[in-house]
Amino acid sequence: MSISKALQEDSLDYAFDEQHIWHPYTSMTHPFPMIGIKSADGCELITEDGKRLVDGTSSWWSCVHGYNHPVLISAIEKQLHQLPHVMFGGITHEPAIELAKKLVKITCPELTKVFLADSGSIAVEVAMKMALQYWQGKNNPNKQKIATIKRGYHGDTFAAMSVCDPDNGMHTMFGTSVVKQVFAPSPTSAFDDSNVESDLANLRATFETHHHQLAAFIIEPIMQGAGGMYFYSPEYLKGVRVLCDEFNILLILDEIATGFGRLGKLFAYEFADIAPDLMCIGKALTGGYISLAATMCSDNVAQGISDSPAGVFMHGPTFMGNPLACAAANASLELIAKNDWQQQIPAIEMQMQQELKGIEKLDAVNDVRVLGAVAVIEIDRSLNAAQLQPLFTEQGVWIRVFGHVIYIMPPYSISSQQLTKLTTAMKSVAKFLNQSENQTESTFLSHG
Ligand SMILES: *Cc1c(COP(=O)(O)O)cnc(C)c1O
Repeated sequence: MSISKALQEDSLDYAFDEQHIWHPYTSMTHPFPMIGIKSADGCELITEDGKRLVDGTSSWWSCVHGYNHPVLISAIEKQLHQLPHVMFGGITHEPAIELAKKLVKITCPELTKVFLADSGSIAVEVAMKMALQYWQGKNNPNKQKIATIKRGYHGDTFAAMSVCDPDNGMHTMFGTSVVKQVFAPSPTSAFDDSNVESDLANLRATFETHHHQLAAFIIEPIMQGAGGMYFYSPEYLKGVRVLCDEFNILLILDEIATGFGRLGKLFAYEFADIAPDLMCIGKALTGGYISLAATMCSDNVAQGISDSPAGVFMHGPTFMGNPLACAAANASLELIAKNDWQQQIPAIEMQMQQELKGIEKLDAVNDVRVLGAVAVIEIDRSLNAAQLQPLFTEQGVWIRVFGHVIYIMPPYSISSQQLTKLTTAMKSVAKFLNQSENQTESTFLSHG
């Protein structure tokens, strides 16, 4: 066989991919350029043609321990041979019990009940459904709307979409099929700004007008992620808890992006020293190896649902509590419990701060912000991911821009050399954007 023939057979069928496979937030007729990934090693992705790319995204914020981790692999392997899946209706199993025990133990004492869901969006749907059923049980069936703040992101299913940012999200695309919820302005206070009076006054005004119909308030604690990577003050989150109590509104925290150490605390609500009534987790829950999410709630919420006319909580996906996913989560939580992240994240934070210093002086840069293992360069215009992708891969990194931001959320186990590669690439693309005037093509909001 000739060498060129062998290469051809080895290479991916990109043409088939283009013609037949949907990718996130892309067109089927104007496909986005794809990079074939063959394998991964630690914090690096290895392309079909053997190029190594340092992963600045942790595969959409999930793969926090890096790829091919022996502990995660062996946990999944062991479970695969024992019981890869079994229905969860009328049946239980050790991986699910172990996982729920761990989750109850590491979260605030108020969160005692665990619903295992298959993705983050579903965990959000579940939390919203729980809140609605709760108020039916409390003989307050008028409380059937959800409030949130602008610039949020909570997932792509219909209920989740309804609480995403109303302007940048997908509301206009799906018209009246997306339920109209109640939006307060997003907080203007930065993370270290404790002056949150006007932000809280805005929320109070929203609650005063709508509280009779509000079942719950949902918010991403401290970091608004896919809505633009904004960090806000823990004082605001504290005030949110107080206002929810005052107006009799359940508080749902969406910790899907922030949970498991990303911002430097195990959960972001710890910055504000509060407890939610319901909480969604996902993404890094399994260390990014397999899809799993969960909705946790308090005894009080569970009681309200039991008192509702249905008497049971009405949700039960086919792959609920999948044992393989639970085994991966248990292994990942064991790695988290070793607490390496408590040293790794402040070190990553400090290095990113130092290496991005000065880049805020560029005309095209609106803001540079770093918190925990998240670094953001906000550009003064919408960015075109397809156009910028080659600029990153040429430099041996995997970074995906969206909206106005160039950001990284690397695995916690990244080496300082690998991290320097990421920040260097971020800066060089910011400089490129500073020089070029024609990068105005817009992309709509997505964590793509
Ligand atoms: C990613 C994300 C979701 C959706 O999770 P999926 O697993 O993609 O459905 C929801 N909320 C937040 C805050 C997220 O970052």
